[in-house]
Amino acid sequence: MSLYFDANATTPLLPEAREAWLAAVDEHWQNPSSPSRASARVHVLLEQSRTKIADRFGVSAESVVFNSGATEGNRDVLAYMRRIAAPGQQLAQSAIEHPSVRENAQEIWSDDALELPVDEQGRISLEYLDETLALGKFALVSLMAANNETGVVQPWREAIDLCHRRRVAIHVDATQWVGKEPLAGLGSADFVTVSGHKFGGPKGAGFLIVAPAFSGFAGQRGGAQEHDHRAGTENYPAVAAMMVALKVSDDLLRGDAIQACCGRDAFEAKLLANIEGLQIWGQGAPRLANTSSLCLPGHENSRWVRLLEQRGFVVSTGSACATGKAGPSHVLAAMGISPECALQTVRVSSLRRTVAADWDLLAKAFIDLSENGGSATANSQVISI
Ligand code: PLP
Repeated sequence: MSLYFDANATTPLLPEAREAWLAAVDEHWQNPSSPSRASARVHVLLEQSRTKIADRFGVSAESVVFNSGATEGNRDVLAYMRRIAAPGQQLAQSAIEHPSVRENAQEIWSDDALELPVDEQGRISLEYLDETLALGKFALVSLMAANNETGVVQPWREAIDLCHRRRVAIHVDATQWVGKEPLAGLGSADFVTVSGHKFGGPKGAGFLIVAPAFSGFAGQRGGAQEHDHRAGTENYPAVAAMMVALKVSDDLLRGDAIQACCGRDAFEAKLLANIEGLQIWGQGAPRLANTSSLCLPGHENSRWVRLLEQRGFVVSTGSACATGKAGPSHVLAAMGISPECALQTVRVSSLRRTVAADWDLLAKAFIDLSENGGSATANSQVISI
């Protein structure tokens, strides 16, 4: 039994999504491309799911491509744009993109990939982006909506307008945004990548939005599924579960445009008041309300993770993908943060169901550990996730 504060890594399947998954696995397991009537029914359900997603994003159903998640989507966008770009055209990506953009950009675009720097708060400069695009060399801009490590939100709406004015395509990695913030405006990007497991859906299910101007888009090949955009038998049960998770989170956001303060700010205030030398990355920038990236002087972040886990709190050292990898975070490095501080940085990211009292318990544990160096006993009041 633990209190889970690692939601940016993944979220548990919502009960409603689990029910939808179980029902689909039992009743709608057939291959949507097969000729039987039962398969045709699955095909219809899949297309209805596509339309519902399209409606939420304000795009046409043909723009929605189901896939395995954001790593696949990000790579496919970069690869497709490279294929159709004119020789010599380049990619501009922010310096804080997820490794699924960075590493694929390096492989696919190599010397034609340019990094857009971020300021000390972790945001790109729109002025710099505009000046860069004015050079007329760019086919694609890749900019995440919100950062997985710091929660810092990028000016992606303005970047979309700017790219369109400059006639450059823009890809928004909305993996951390969807489920936490309203979807309005995302449908204006040329490509949007989304991952189901970040908002209570299953792992290995996601979707990509592709603007009609790129109707020739193709990801993995080997079949005509997904209207020729992505080969492979569709995982309808996973899509059904993801749909329910998207509906639950998006309906909540519609009633409550800015996510109700979940206690993060009070948590940070308590830590700042009680832990000497504590720093909070990106605090001066707009951030996702569930995320806090903290530099706790004194010990490496892995020690905090271990000590907090012993007390029943799950937190992270940074991005889940970077865990176990040598070297400090490229995101913090791009913000000008020293490797020492980066290695002392802990990421805390709450679930939607996390309440202020949970944040309070976590703050107490941090403060207690910083005062007692980990000698105090486990907190017995911890609520299960
Ligand atoms: N992009 C961002 C910003 C992420 O945070 C993640 C996962 O942590 C991904 C992409 C990769 O997502 P997936 O797990 O769906 O491959």
